Amino acid sequence: MPKGSSSLVSKTVGKKPPKIKKQTKYLFVTGGVLSGVGKGITAASLGALFKARGLKVTIQKCDQYLNVDAGTLNPAEHGECFVTNDGAETDLDLGHYERFLDVELTGKSSLMTGRVMKKVIDKERAGGYLGKTVQVVPHVVDAIIEEIEECGRGSDVHIVEVGGTVGDIEGLHFIEAIRELELRVGRGNYTHIHVVYIPFLGTSKELKTKPAQHAVLELRRIGLLPDMIGARTEVDAPMKVIDKLSLFTGVSPEGIVLLPNADTVYRVPLTLEQSGIAEYALSKLNIKTKTPELSPWKNLVKKATQGFDKTVKIGIVAKYLDNEDTYFSVIEALKSAARTNNTNLQFTWVDAENVNVNNSSDLLKSYDGILVPGGFGKRGIEGKIAAAQYALKSKKPYLGLCLGLQVAVIGAVRTTGLNDANSTEFEPKTSDPVVYIMEAQRGKEGTGGSMRLGGYECVIKPSSLSQRVYGANKIIERHRHRYEVNQAYKSQIEEAGLLISGLSPDGTLVEMIEGKDHPYFLATQAHPEFLSRPMRPHPLFYGFIKASLKT
Ligand code: GLN
Repeated sequence: MPKGSSSLVSKTVGKKPPKIKKQTKYLFVTGGVLSGVGKGITAASLGALFKARGLKVTIQKCDQYLNVDAGTLNPAEHGECFVTNDGAETDLDLGHYERFLDVELTGKSSLMTGRVMKKVIDKERAGGYLGKTVQVVPHVVDAIIEEIEECGRGSDVHIVEVGGTVGDIEGLHFIEAIRELELRVGRGNYTHIHVVYIPFLGTSKELKTKPAQHAVLELRRIGLLPDMIGARTEVDAPMKVIDKLSLFTGVSPEGIVLLPNADTVYRVPLTLEQSGIAEYALSKLNIKTKTPELSPWKNLVKKATQGFDKTVKIGIVAKYLDNEDTYFSVIEALKSAARTNNTNLQFTWVDAENVNVNNSSDLLKSYDGILVPGGFGKRGIEGKIAAAQYALKSKKPYLGLCLGLQVAVIGAVRTTGLNDANSTEFEPKTSDPVVYIMEAQRGKEGTGGSMRLGGYECVIKPSSLSQRVYGANKIIERHRHRYEVNQAYKSQIEEAGLLISGLSPDGTLVEMIEGKDHPYFLATQAHPEFLSRPMRPHPLFYGFIKASLKT
């Protein structure tokens, strides 16, 4: 008997066998040829299909940027900054994930290179590597694997999307993390789809698979063999594209799905399901499930594409107009609210810089409703104030989101004779700071640290329009702002025809205002657009469209 074995036996005999932890299975989603061709929607759609089969799904986006989070990224360049309930400032893909999966994600689902690097460097500074040379492999890659495992813990399938395209220098650490994670969990516990772009040559009327072939070669060079390919095309592709891709990449034809442009993004889950790719992915993960319940998706697609007899016209007074992605969730929330009200939506961007008190009526009267979304900085602010004043006075439905509440308050108070009323964000020395920075945040204006971020409770005034619209007395909404309404101006706010209809539970923060004797003038300090879902519009948006239809 080998030395020590008797004591081993005596220690284990009679004890319960150790609990085997559930193995989370992984679906990796990478991209080739080009970025921006719908990897995020593919990842989210597969997640939705898994969820419709009763599986517990989590999802995470790895972003290559050296930023620690998306909070400091310019929205005009990068699109919307999506805020999670726990206050993380993330990439707009998390918005797709939440909408498709109908879940509330946390900051763990957004992993930027900067966050990983910071963690590794902080550990190095604290002596956590015990004198070792700190390197990308293994230390950075291990830190990524840790974050991925942590985010996926407890789920049946964890979907990990890597931003950018494979082969980018700046994304290699994520690809290496996938390679090592695959080795660690073993066959049957992971699968991988590579989403590639197949260009169409107009002159020869041909879809060219060559760039996609090279994109798969690039993956193989790094040590990864995808099980599946998502082939994005801008025209319908013939089946022979699948055969050709299969021949040149070694991926089975069953693992290749054609993804032509869709009339609505919500069709993608149905296209994927029809192709059999979700079942194929699950077979790679050794998961057997029931048939998915897809009637909600079918109904959604029907509503999103059918066209209605009525059309509601909404003017969005905004300033980041070069990139519509900046307001992605706002538009999605409007679309969802319009569908549910059985109306077509026609929205028009109104450049806030062109609006002023003299022309606001001419520029805005043709719209059924006016929306002022969130924003930062002085540019365009007077136009937004004028738009809010016009909506209040002319009894035009108005929805103000975050900055949209602040401009409504400034505009209203100005009508009481306080002509210089302003926010200290735009006029630091204003004589009437009706929107200001609170004591605790003073001096930190330029930093990320001073923002009110994530879910906050709001107590709604009984019998107010806000209460009727929400159908609740207490709600939680997500925030992302620094400035707050100054309650020293409460009497002027009310004199101007507004009602403070929502407050933080301790009464210190104004969360909602509404117009008195107005069909629908509602504004919130929060960003309700983040909680709207394609099949369940947010009540504030639903009410806004409903009221706009009546004008
Ligand atoms: N700039 C305003 C603030 O920081 C509003 C921000 C927003 O609209 N998200 O308070």
